[in-house]
Amino acid sequence: MKSLLANVLDHNRDFVARREYEPFATDKFPDKNLAVLACMDARLVELLPKAMGLKNGDAKLIKNAGALVTHPWGSVMRSLIVAVYALRAEEICVVAHEDCGMNSIDPGAILQAAQDRGINGKTMDTLRAAGIDLDHWLRGFDNVADSVNYTVGIIRQHPLMPPDVPVHGLIINPHTGQLKLVVDGYSPQATGDA
Ligand SMILES: [Zn+2]
Repeated sequence: MKSLLANVLDHNRDFVARREYEPFATDKFPDKNLAVLACMDARLVELLPKAMGLKNGDAKLIKNAGALVTHPWGSVMRSLIVAVYALRAEEICVVAHEDCGMNSIDPGAILQAAQDRGINGKTMDTLRAAGIDLDHWLRGFDNVADSVNYTVGIIRQHPLMPPDVPVHGLIINPHTGQLKLVVDGYSPQATGDA
């Protein structure tokens, strides 16, 4: 039985040998001058770009659990800033989705699962004693529209984000690919402080 990694590497050898990369040729600058922050949900791997009309080379695609910006100085915000100033992104779309794993995620259950997998409970006590709020760090959201509004607001109000970059907020249906508009970045008043 071949390992997952061996399968990936075998496929890759064939992929390159058959020059199957040729249809994807492009450069590092997004042709649609767009940066997308989306959820890492596996159902969106192909569905999200297809549903948004994006092909290889069209957009900077940043993914994490829940399409969230959890910290104004974390890696997601840094990626968006770099996309805008160095990689010609002129608009940003935050795309969360219905039925997201980060909706009502239970930090306690995750920490329990970590202990079940052999992470020492004392390690967690030490982290908490050092001031790391593990439950806060692992939290998700209760309402996906509120979450999109909140993340759009963090990006919009970031001190290094130029005010003329529209930041849109959308929710995608992970089955049909249908997009629901939550924040129209062209209308600043739509960007609530939720
Ligand atoms: Zn998700």
